[in-house]
Formats: sequence, structure tokens, C-alpha cells
Amino acid sequence: SKPSYRWRRVLLKVSGEALAGDQAQNIDPKITMAIAREVAAVTRLGIEVAIVVGGGNIFRGSSWAGSSGLDRSSADYIGMLATVMNAIFLQATMESIGIPTRVQTAFRMSEVAEPYIRRRAVRHLEKGRVVIFAAGTGNPFFTTDTAAALRCAEINAEVVLKATNVDGVYDDNPKHNPNARLQDNLTYHDVISKELSVMDLTAITLCQENNIPVVVFNLNKTGNIAKAIKGERVGTLIGD
Ligand code: UDP
Repeated sequence: SKPSYRWRRVLLKVSGEALAGDQAQNIDPKITMAIAREVAAVTRLGIEVAIVVGGGNIFRGSSWAGSSGLDRSSADYIGMLATVMNAIFLQATMESIGIPTRVQTAFRMSEVAEPYIRRRAVRHLEKGRVVIFAAGTGNPFFTTDTAAALRCAEINAEVVLKATNVDGVYDDNPKHNPNARLQDNLTYHDVISKELSVMDLTAITLCQENNIPVVVFNLNKTGNIAKAIKGERVGTLIGD
């Protein structure tokens, strides 16, 4: 019989910074290829994978607004456009190794990608396609972590898997406290009350309100993405 895995449908969040690797350019193709390979392996097992991609490797609205004279909304729209570049790069990489992949954008760019249509996204997933959600939530003042929580809730995915450059969440800031320890499990309350920098409050609260567990893990270790998607122990699991 078919082996069963912990999750049937997952929302993988890939930050822009994770895509950059140690390259001087904005995107490291070794990283996008590694992501594509691991996602390919799990889709073959029948696990449905949706991806929200960030844009911080190219443009982060909040760091430009103010100082540059740019208003926050304009800066954030540029940030959202940056996520579309990453999404198309990732889509092309996935398709180069034979994984059918659709990009859906939160605002229309119909020559480039499909518009976000929830039921259509779900249909793609049911057919075994990977869906990449780009342009965040489509609204300034939000983040792609919030987009990940939102899309996860909308498409009834069971977990947000947050791929980062760190091994997981520590009980204190490891930069300031050398005794900070990596945690296997945390509650939403721990994350919020101790202000652990996992995701912004809007995103973590949305997960909490909708009982969406969050796994924070390091995508630079080979095999971790596949492990996280299969529900194997990796990084930090945040839940009730
Ligand atoms: N952004 C936005 N609304 C959203 C998602 C993203 O305005 O719903 C903008 C915001 O300026 C943000 C940028 O897009 O700084 C890139 O997204 P994010 O910083 O979340 O990317 P990541 O940290 O994952 O690389």
C-alpha cells in the first residue's frame, strides 16, 4: 500500500534571502535547483506542494521607505514585484527538471503568470502540479510570511514550512545570548511573548488563529526540504 506521510498538502515558504545563498548575484541557481530537486522527490510521493516565495534578496520595501524619500506603499509594490522575479526563476528551474509548475500572482500580470484564483490553485495541486504564489498578499504593509499563512489557510494546506538560513528557533537571540538553545518545539505563545524572531506578528497570529503549525528549518542542509515536507523531524515545530 501507499506509504502515508504526515502532511497531505503543505505550504513551503522560501525567503528571498535563502535564494541568494552566498552569491554576489541576487539568486544562486544551485539553491533553486536544490529546492526543485527536493520538491520533485516529494511530489512523486503524492504530497501536494504550494510555495510562497519572498523577495528580500532583491528589494525589501521597509528598508527603502523613509530614508530614500520613497513612500512605503510604492516601496512595497516594488518588493512584491521582486517576489515575482524569484517565482518565475523558481518555476523555470522546476520545469527544467520536469515538474509542472504554475505561478499565480496576487495582482494581475496576465502575460507573465496566472492571477491568484483559489479554486484553480487547488485544482493544480490536485493534479500534482506545484503552485508558486507570488506578489505576497498583493497589499503593501504586509510580508510574504503573512502571505504564506494566508494562502495556507485559504487552500487548506496543513502546515507552513518556513525554509531559512538558520537551523530553527532559539529560546533567545543567539547573537546576544551565547547560551541560547535551539528548540525542537515551541508554542505560538512562546514565540509571541518572547518576541522570538520567527515571523512577524501578523503572520504568526494568523497561524495561531487558524491552528496552522509552523516548521522553521534550514534549507542549506541537503535533504532538509524533503524531510520537512514529508513531516520528518527537522528544525523547530511551532504549535499549540
Ligand atoms: N511585500 C508587500 N506585501 C506582501 C508581501 C511582500 O508589500 O504581502 C513587499 C514588502 O516590501 C517586502 C517585500 O515585498 O519587504 C519582499 O517580501 P519579504 O520581505 O516578505 O521577503 P522575504 O523576507 O521572504 O525575502
